[in-house]
Amino acid sequence: MQVPLLDLKAQYAIIREEIIPAVQAVLESQIFNIGPAVKELEKTIADYCGCKAAVGVSSGTDALLVSLMALGIGPGDEVITTPFTFFATAGGIWRVGARPVFVDIDPETFNIAPAGIEAAVTEKTKALLPVHLFGQMAEMEAIMPIAERHGLAVIEDAAQAIGASRNGRMAGSMGTMGCLSFYATKTLGAFGDGGMVVTQDAELAERLEKIRNHGQGGSYVHEFIGGNFRLDNLQAAVLGVKMRHLADWLDRRQAIGRRYGELLADCAEVVTPIIHPPNVSSFNYYVIRAQRRDELRAFLTDRGIGTSIYYQLCLHEQECFASLGYRRGQFPHAEQAAGEVLALPVYPEMADEQIAVVAEGIKSFYA
Ligand SMILES: *Cc1c(COP(=O)(O)O)cnc(C)c1O
Repeated sequence: MQVPLLDLKAQYAIIREEIIPAVQAVLESQIFNIGPAVKELEKTIADYCGCKAAVGVSSGTDALLVSLMALGIGPGDEVITTPFTFFATAGGIWRVGARPVFVDIDPETFNIAPAGIEAAVTEKTKALLPVHLFGQMAEMEAIMPIAERHGLAVIEDAAQAIGASRNGRMAGSMGTMGCLSFYATKTLGAFGDGGMVVTQDAELAERLEKIRNHGQGGSYVHEFIGGNFRLDNLQAAVLGVKMRHLADWLDRRQAIGRRYGELLADCAEVVTPIIHPPNVSSFNYYVIRAQRRDELRAFLTDRGIGTSIYYQLCLHEQECFASLGYRRGQFPHAEQAAGEVLALPVYPEMADEQIAVVAEGIKSFYA
């Protein structure tokens, strides 16, 4: 039995009958940029996340970028984040001209360890950028007071965390802004690229709306310099349909997470995800730590089981950030994680037998 890492065709087969009329309605309307479907999706997602406003943008990457732009962060500024995340987190900081400052992770959750943040704050620090990695929220109740003490904004990279919560608060709702991604491998995926910024601040939302459209206030009147960061109406129509299924999909992801946990409990060579009690993980990715990770991965590939590695090289070790002056050894927990993590298949349409096949494959490798 083949078990792909992700099976988008299986999801499409289920929602096809709902998707086609929604897409057709956009085609008939011939409204392709910010249109009714975008406005409706913004409202739906703002409500879902428990936020006052949401602004649809072109990708998760651009959600981060426009958030930094909205805060006026630029050259000479520093933004504190994790070295163990997708590239876009630090890429956005760099692109506005600011400096990414890394703080090591908590080895249990893979998220930025709040204990290290305060020591990294300088006079140049303007924001904290925690990432809710793999669908588990960072320790926001420890992070927010640090931000308040130092007058810093908080941008939540919730690209992997729509539907995740902590102490009942939804991912994206606790910081100054939360950034969502609708990339195909994310829990809520568009038919192409898309993203959204959620916030409790209506004024900030207005600014974000202008930034995504070249800083236009009125027609062809530019108050400041933004860019083309718009979300397509077509993508919003697709996402609007998928939103109706999100709660069920999250339930299934959590059930799959629990099942893997049970099946792998007696496998001493792997560590299954450690979800801290205040958190409800969305299991956007199901990531284990594994001994002899690369050999295990090759073994599973031979058996037709798809896996991935998020992420095999920490950001402080990336060539493009060499000028930041970081060295290997500075963030030992992140570096160790990069050598051990392995993402297993997880998608709502996955069958119980497939979960068993993956667990079986892992156990036979070590046996
Ligand atoms: C996917 C992702 C992004 C970027 O989102 P895109 O929509 O692919 O641009 C940013 N941060 C994290 C943590 C992500 O996983």
